[in-house]
Amino acid sequence: MIKVAKFGGSSLADAAQFRKVADIVKSDSNRRYVVASAPGKRNSHDEKVTDLLLQCYHLAKDKKDIGEIFERICNRYRDIIADLQLDFSLEEDFNNIKTSVLHHAGRHYVASRGEYLNSKILAKYLGFAFIDAEDCVFFDSADRFMPEKTNAAMKELLSLHEYAVIPGFYGVNTDGSIRTFSRGGSDITGSIVAAAANADLYENWTDVSGMLMADPRIIENPLPIPEITYRELRELSYMGATVLHEDAIFPVRKAGIPINIRNTNIPEAPGTMIVPKAVTNEVDTVITGVAGKKGITAIHVEKDMMNSEVGFGRKVLEVLENHTVPFEHLPSGIDTMSVLVSSKAIEECKGAITAEMVKAVNPDSITLVENLALIAVVGRGMVNTQGTAARVFTALAKENINIRMIDQGSSELNIIVAVEEKNYEKTINTIYKEFVK
Ligand code: ASP
Repeated sequence: MIKVAKFGGSSLADAAQFRKVADIVKSDSNRRYVVASAPGKRNSHDEKVTDLLLQCYHLAKDKKDIGEIFERICNRYRDIIADLQLDFSLEEDFNNIKTSVLHHAGRHYVASRGEYLNSKILAKYLGFAFIDAEDCVFFDSADRFMPEKTNAAMKELLSLHEYAVIPGFYGVNTDGSIRTFSRGGSDITGSIVAAAANADLYENWTDVSGMLMADPRIIENPLPIPEITYRELRELSYMGATVLHEDAIFPVRKAGIPINIRNTNIPEAPGTMIVPKAVTNEVDTVITGVAGKKGITAIHVEKDMMNSEVGFGRKVLEVLENHTVPFEHLPSGIDTMSVLVSSKAIEECKGAITAEMVKAVNPDSITLVENLALIAVVGRGMVNTQGTAARVFTALAKENINIRMIDQGSSELNIIVAVEEKNYEKTINTIYKEFVK
């Protein structure tokens, strides 16, 4: 059995966290490959090393002094090394990196050094080999990640080491320069390593005990989700419930490897298992989770006999396509069609869009309703349970929340309602309370 364990920035923010990580890794000899982030915040006022590095990059670009901030970065690592009493020095690396920054090294290179340095310390501390991501994570000349080439090289390097630490977040471009994934991208590296290692499990260690059924900023102490399928996760993350970088899902999902979200600070908690197929669809709470997003605009298009007009929908959507605006949802009725889009995406072009839609389909009316929020009730348990929609609607009606639109996915995995933004929190609260007693 092989487990790949990725530790996030807060799990590796200082020496005390390194000790917890080592205890976790050493407690299970199957944890063979470890992917590390850069040191994150030690408390809420602290700064992430990646952010400090990016500050250095911008200062150097503006020909300003990087000395003070660069020293702060080095001290973060020096403190960890000293506290762990390692016979090890990164001074040469610090000098090389500083010189590169001063010589205007690329932004990606500078941002990536947080992971590089932290992984070297962790490898030393664990007694594992250090595999540099620049030798096995590849991007093409257009900066697109290259999955096949990466997988082959990664497989080969991993096969040379029984135990290894690999820095997250970055790889190398065809021209030899360092290229990073988007922020939070160490999750992606972890997933790539898990797929290449043919792992049985990808553990993602962070500072929460898994995914929660609802946003803890809205619901006090929401229940954790013990098990969630990839599809449910996709529905909830689309609505903004984030626990993993979105691009981290694909490599392991494709390989059928489950992900276990765990808490470095409470290692005994089982966390959340993200699985291709759940052991059971009988979920006690019926719903797996509820999530949502604000900032939605509905474009309502009405025309008599619309349903018999071939190509109507295409023409409406083509207008959005020409403005490169994606649509979020498309609830439609007889002679009405509503296109839900992100308000931000049409901010600059709403006038043009409505005018072009009028021209394209000559509707009886076209109206824009702004300041809406979408809320998704997600759960595989809903498929075999009758009355879930009725429970949602009745609960909302009792609270006098006006539902502006309803959409149920064909998979029966979700029910999506649109409400006015001002009712967003109240809607989530009402739905959560209805299902979680
Ligand atoms: N250190 C990077 C960031 O702060 C990548 C990561 O932690 O996953 O975004």
